[in-house]
Amino acid sequence: MIHEFLIRTKEKTQVVDLTEKVAAIVQRQGGEGICCVYVPHATAAIVINENADPNIGLDLLDALAALVPEGKWRHDRIDDNAAAHIKAAILGPGETIPYGDGRLLLGRWQSVMLVELDGPRERKVLVRAA
Ligand code: ZN
Repeated sequence: MIHEFLIRTKEKTQVVDLTEKVAAIVQRQGGEGICCVYVPHATAAIVINENADPNIGLDLLDALAALVPEGKWRHDRIDDNAAAHIKAAILGPGETIPYGDGRLLLGRWQSVMLVELDGPRERKVLVRAA
């Protein structure tokens, strides 16, 4: 079954750690397999990286802002959020994580995170552990 939960973001750009929510789904599933975490959105993304130091997420947002300036794109004429689309396309909408014994096989410093790029909004996250 595909699990679904909602995240209400609070900022224009923001990183939200999903690791505990995803780990709980995998724990209920048990055993071993592959877990897909996916956002069905065009201006949000899923990444796996360190969140022990939350500055890494802020640095990622700053790096993306430096890479993709606001307000100079064709889509801005109709929706004014082209930079968010481009950043989301660079990061991608999902990640796949192996699990064993009902536990995500993430590295010591890895977390699963939603990256909000055009908030604040309500974001749907889909998780399938199979
Ligand atoms: Zn748009």
